[in-house]
Amino acid sequence: MILVLGGTAEARELAAELDAAGVPVTTSLAGRVANPRPPPGQIRVGGFGGPAALAGWLREHGIGAVVDATHPFAERISASAARACPQAGVPVLRLERPGWHERPGDRWHRVPDLAAAARLVPELGRRVLLTTGRQGLASFVTTDAWFLVRCVEPPDPPLPARHELVLGRGPYTLAGERALIERFEIDLVVTKDSGGSLTEAKLGAARELGLPVLVVDRPPRPAMEAVTSVAEALTWARHHAG
Ligand code: NAP
Repeated sequence: MILVLGGTAEARELAAELDAAGVPVTTSLAGRVANPRPPPGQIRVGGFGGPAALAGWLREHGIGAVVDATHPFAERISASAARACPQAGVPVLRLERPGWHERPGDRWHRVPDLAAAARLVPELGRRVLLTTGRQGLASFVTTDAWFLVRCVEPPDPPLPARHELVLGRGPYTLAGERALIERFEIDLVVTKDSGGSLTEAKLGAARELGLPVLVVDRPPRPAMEAVTSVAEALTWARHHAG
């Protein structure tokens, strides 16, 4: 049995490929999203309770290998997997999509974290499209700017003092992102360097409209074998599935 730590499009794709190849696969979801689209294969939902509990879970369920395909900003579950898998004697692979790269015409400002992004907002804009997700919005509460906060699920307070909430999951189109930016008179986009094609249209729209973009860099990752594509992860997982 392969365990895929999920919550991303790549995790779903990998589970689908493994399932189609007849390799038993369980996808683990954190349970943050109310109605996630279920990936093929088995599913388990909710935290494991830390690295020691995850190691126990891997042994109990006879897991042959783990693919950590969680989001580049999901730091704790990856750290947990990096500790638990060696403890349980289970091979682990990191599947992480490449980050985004600046292109001609872009006006990006890279920052190390959300707090640094919040500090730079007043210098760059007054009406901000904030797409960093519902966690970490507290970093922006003292910022005087107006925010269009876009999340998959409604966020818990605290939220920026002046804001409007828009719920959306993507994928987004260039035309749609452009229309949103124009309709709300956005003058600054704030994003994590999530990478991937599903949410990158905002970067193209900002480029076309000449807007600055605050890009939050990815956090450091635990050292482990890593690949960037589902195809590579599939080859690795099939090998370890025997
Ligand atoms: P996180 O900070 O790394 O995780 C917090 C805790 O939630 C972990 O310690 C773990 O609990 C549990 N958890 C997280 N992912 C899990 C999974 N796939 N299966 C089982 N338990 C999991 O993660 P996060 O940033 O809150 O993200 C939660 C989920 O949303 C992840 O699966 C991630 O792939 C997805 N996601 C995150 C982002 C983002 O920007 N952070 C964006 C899109 C999707 P225990 O310690 O109790 O095991």
